[in-house]
Amino acid sequence: MKTFNIAVIPGDGVGQETVPAAWRVLELAGQLSNAFAVRSHVFDWSCAYFQRHGHMMPENGLDLLKPFDAIFLGAVGFPPVPDHVSLWGLLLPIRRGFDQYINLRPIKLLRGITSPLCGYHPGDIDFVVIRENTEGEYSNSGGRLRVGTPQEVVVQNSVFTRFGTERVIRYAFNLARASRQSLTSATKSNGINFSMPFWDEVFQEVGEEYPDVKQVLYHIDALAAYFVTRPQTFDVVVGSNLFGDILTDLGAAIQGSIGIAASANINPEGQYPSMFEPVHGSAPDIAGKGLANPIGQIWTAKLMVDHLGFPDVGANILEAIERALEKGHKTPDLGGTDSTQSVTEAVMTELRHLY
Ligand code: ATP
Ligand code: MG
Repeated sequence: MKTFNIAVIPGDGVGQETVPAAWRVLELAGQLSNAFAVRSHVFDWSCAYFQRHGHMMPENGLDLLKPFDAIFLGAVGFPPVPDHVSLWGLLLPIRRGFDQYINLRPIKLLRGITSPLCGYHPGDIDFVVIRENTEGEYSNSGGRLRVGTPQEVVVQNSVFTRFGTERVIRYAFNLARASRQSLTSATKSNGINFSMPFWDEVFQEVGEEYPDVKQVLYHIDALAAYFVTRPQTFDVVVGSNLFGDILTDLGAAIQGSIGIAASANINPEGQYPSMFEPVHGSAPDIAGKGLANPIGQIWTAKLMVDHLGFPDVGANILEAIERALEKGHKTPDLGGTDSTQSVTEAVMTELRHLY
């Protein structure tokens, strides 16, 4: 039986609660399936660490993480520390340094959950968003001239490379071919007249190799509306860094609560470790109260299990989550009265029943 070494970064706020909760489920899944074991190495990198040391992680942070099989992250963010510090000090260096160019986010209406969209039932909404994760609009390139004057000019560049665009679109096509029927691309080539026509060209070129995959192109504004008016029509959706970011938060909302949404930052070649983190942040308003929904983190653990090569075990984790929800085990964000711990225990109980 293989033992995986996992770098665990609980981070700030509710990450301190959801990560240990999901870790229990992960360990149990390995034991019950007899498929794998996990060994954790916990790193205390966070905004609290920043306040002590002046940086989010040590200078050799990436070297320390590199030997691990995967990285399991909670959330970083703490009100007195500006968001861009945690983003540029920890999340982006890991995503970019480890070339985790795929950000994968499942959007699925789980059993036991009511979508804020009327009339949808579990199973109706079930798709995956692939967000480009290393370039595009989040480029750190640009500048400000004549700051604070009426003549101020601000430039923020987007950087799209053929290499970066092709590989994310190809990954999305492969996913669509393997498990789904159609691939929808988010564009805005009517208004953004260099990068988006280029994106469309690459989509079309790569798409010629996938005649079996239905190919759909929507402008981002229309696509956002379709996420609300007909989410049942999507299978795989691919978008640039910014468009993917916005779409996946919208996707998290239509599946009921940001507290249940999961994501994976994947380096598909396996040259570097991939990182698994829930969509939600550190939720300082509810941190430390035992109210955080652990399901986003547990679903994230499921994505990690899939990635490590055990999709059957991953499927059982999701099944256990759905059974626990169906029985009414819900934290307050889903209208329930359960705690982080009682939801976690309910999921573990259901998982035991599956073996
Ligand atoms: P950060 O700066 O870390 O991104 P944030 O406050 O900007 O934090 P979130 O942490 O995602 O963003 O919080 C947004 C809202 O969603 C808050 O009201 C929070 O309480 C709620 N929320 C986030 N995660 C959870 C969770 N796991 N369970 C319940 N509610 C959550
Ligand atoms: Mg935030």
